[in-house]
Amino acid sequence: MGLTEIDSLEIAVIVDNELDPLSPSCNPAVKLGGGLKDPSEGAIIDRGGRAKEMRMDHICCGAHGLSMMITAIKGGSRHTVLFDTGPEEEVWQRNAHRIGADIAAIELIQLSHWHRDHSGGMLRAIRMINSAKSADAPPVIADLHPSRPDYRGVMGPIPISLEADPTFDEVVAAGATLVKSAAPHGVCDDMFLISGEIPRRTAYEQGIRRGIRFSAETNAWSDDPLISDERLLMVKLKGKGVVVFTGCSHAGAVNASRHAVELGDSAPLYAIVGGYHLADAERDTIDATVKDFKSLGPKILIPGHCTGWRAKCKIEQEMPGCMVPSFVGSRLAL
Ligand SMILES: [Zn+2]
Ligand SMILES: [Zn+2]
Repeated sequence: MGLTEIDSLEIAVIVDNELDPLSPSCNPAVKLGGGLKDPSEGAIIDRGGRAKEMRMDHICCGAHGLSMMITAIKGGSRHTVLFDTGPEEEVWQRNAHRIGADIAAIELIQLSHWHRDHSGGMLRAIRMINSAKSADAPPVIADLHPSRPDYRGVMGPIPISLEADPTFDEVVAAGATLVKSAAPHGVCDDMFLISGEIPRRTAYEQGIRRGIRFSAETNAWSDDPLISDERLLMVKLKGKGVVVFTGCSHAGAVNASRHAVELGDSAPLYAIVGGYHLADAERDTIDATVKDFKSLGPKILIPGHCTGWRAKCKIEQEMPGCMVPSFVGSRLAL
């Protein structure tokens, strides 16, 4: 696919599960700021002369979900995409404010897949982004997969349902320009690419065990372990390679990474960013994933959301110095 190569990339982590505003980046390829790392963001006050105040109410709050504001830069040109919107409207609003995100710059919201921990903040995000824009700017685009289940859940002794994702009508009523797509396509002057369905090839990445979806039409649940509406986002960094963003990796972080390399015309894999979905995985699955990461050879791993501490420990052990975990409130530059 004809992706435009970009010079650099900035990521503001608006929602993620974990908070750690102190740990440094141990990978020199990633510049890490935000949280308590940027005293320049503190207000100037008079406390025995000029001083800065480090305010605790400027620190973002963790929540189970993901939302990343991603800016691609080429020469003097910048394009910004919001990848997912976290689980709740209040969290998105609070953190977007606390991180000081220039949300007027967001041109497009991509939902990685239909799950409430990624879609729950969307309607308020649309309204806030549009009202931050100048009057002559086009409204934000919501780029969604057409196959929206009425509900998703997990089968237990009785079905356990998630809350509904925003409907297409609600997205339009909130003010977004709706785009439905199940096929790979470039956005923002082809600086970003949104995939179609991610091929499932590894033996160990099998989606959600006991995953189900509900149809209001038939008033019944049906098996839906694959979450086949999941789509990755990617960019190509000049001289470095492909950066893949994976929301929850129900398709598998390795499957997503390999597919991104294919879509990037076999450019090398440079970074894997997002939820690797290994928090509740068997040890064998974690081991197999990290083994395949090593053979894919990315220079940067930025795991967040549903990756889990055991997988992060394994990555640090096997690929020391490669990982910069995604923490809420972080600003990362690649
Ligand atoms: Zn999910
Ligand atoms: Zn998730």
